[in-house]
Amino acid sequence: MATTFRRGLRSARAWIALGVVAPLGMVAVCAALLLDMRRDAWDKAARTSWNLLQVIERDVDRNVEIIDLALQSVVENLKIYDLEELKPHFRQRVLFDRAVNAKDLGAMLVLDEYGNALYDAAGWPARRLNGGDRDYFRAHKADPDLGLHISRPVISQLIGKPVIVLSRRVAMADDSFNGIVLGSLSLSYFNRMFDRIRLGPGGTIALFLADGTRILRHPEPNEELAPNFASSPNVQRFLRESTGSFVGITPSDDVERLYTFTRVGTLPLYLSVALSTAEIEAEWRAKALGIGLVVLALCGLAIGLSVLVAGELRRRNAAEAELALLSRTDPLTGLPNRRAFEEAFGRAFAETRRRSAPLGLLVVDADHFKRFNDRHGHEGGDRVLVAIARALSASARRPGDLVARIGGEEFAILLPNTDAEGVAHVAETAHAAVGCLLVEAQDGPVGRITVSIGLAFGLPRAGGEPAELFRLADAALYEAKAAGRDRTCYALMPPPRTGPGGIESWMEPGGDAPASTRHGASGPPLAVPLAS
Ligand code: GH3
Ligand code: MG
Ligand code: MG
Repeated sequence: MATTFRRGLRSARAWIALGVVAPLGMVAVCAALLLDMRRDAWDKAARTSWNLLQVIERDVDRNVEIIDLALQSVVENLKIYDLEELKPHFRQRVLFDRAVNAKDLGAMLVLDEYGNALYDAAGWPARRLNGGDRDYFRAHKADPDLGLHISRPVISQLIGKPVIVLSRRVAMADDSFNGIVLGSLSLSYFNRMFDRIRLGPGGTIALFLADGTRILRHPEPNEELAPNFASSPNVQRFLRESTGSFVGITPSDDVERLYTFTRVGTLPLYLSVALSTAEIEAEWRAKALGIGLVVLALCGLAIGLSVLVAGELRRRNAAEAELALLSRTDPLTGLPNRRAFEEAFGRAFAETRRRSAPLGLLVVDADHFKRFNDRHGHEGGDRVLVAIARALSASARRPGDLVARIGGEEFAILLPNTDAEGVAHVAETAHAAVGCLLVEAQDGPVGRITVSIGLAFGLPRAGGEPAELFRLADAALYEAKAAGRDRTCYALMPPPRTGPGGIESWMEPGGDAPASTRHGASGPPLAVPLAS
């Protein structure tokens, strides 16, 4: 676990992955946090709107109820049989006593069946006024069961200011129309109440009648006295649903708002509080921008650092790999050096032993190499070595084969999974290839080049060592040198006791030591045992 982690730290890819995953994680956590903050901002706005709406609704409902109770009391008191007989100041008290409690009530009047003011809460005689042409008067005249009627905003004939008129029908004993009693509620009552409320930029409070007429809007007042919004989808939704909230665009200014609305008690009045969504999110946006910028900067830093570390690691790994390669490569010939050969030899030995496959090893030594050095100088000798390396490489070309320079003018050819004929064939090919070399030294051609080869072959057995096979090959090389050079001598590794019988078919009975053939000699050379 710890080593996997340590190895991960050294991998450029792991750092690049970290450079991607860490910022992604940071962005994901930050996004989740910001979304949560945004939801909080909306929840807070919805709660505030709703609480505000409840307070306003209760106040308006209570005030209208007080005025209505006063109107109802007048309607009742008008039924007193000898009202006309009472002294004016006493009649005033009987009729309008309750009106005193309605503090936002403007005027309170009783109109006769023609609309003329009959009684006036302000005093006797009533102020001269005719309301026969007003909508509310006509409505009561037309509908005996209208109950409390709330009018659209009108300019009061008495105070010259916008009011809404609350009215009830007055009936004769036989229930026929006998005029109305009305009380006016100045729009300044609403303005006073709404003035105390801070909704923030773009926030509005509005009051509508059931027919879509907007009684007033705060903070900007109505452009006209009683505009009608019955065709507006937002208002239609207030009237249809009575209470609720939604996000919609206000057509007049194209601003998106959170609308919260409710009907006022059981009255034909609808209240709405609208907060601009930009304002709801303003604080959140500022925070989100700040946090977002910081997180982005941190992500950039993390990515930058990861790329930097990954780049450094890649350079270091490449340098290490190059060093490793150099440390295993012979600089003169470009072949694997002795160290690389020993490692490969160990691996090939273990692998062929595991698979019960044969392993061939040729140890190749240049003949009388000293002479090349002596005649053509060290540089001439080097040319010969490079040429031999090329010739040997061309002789063993199978994927598992390995040609290495293991000493001054000594090479090794490792041939795993190759049968005896194959190994002998490589040796022959090597002799032929070296024999064909034409090397030019600075002072002329170096002449014929030959090599001696010690060939060892066998099935690596359990408990066997690579050194054993190498010793056999080295001994065979010694024999080849002793026998006159430019030839291959052969040695067999003792066969495994329980191994497959394949190798016996390769050997003459009793043959387990080097045999030799001069390069170019005909017939399979491998069956000749070497006297030890
Ligand atoms: P033999 O046939 O018995 O192998 O004779 P030889 O002369 O090839 O063998 P010996 O071991 O006596 O000499 C090997 C020489 O190879 C000795 C050394 O100067 C030379 N030599 C070793 N490495 C290099 C090298 O890298 N470059 C050159 N030019 N010569 C080298
Ligand atoms: Mg030599
Ligand atoms: Mg030598």
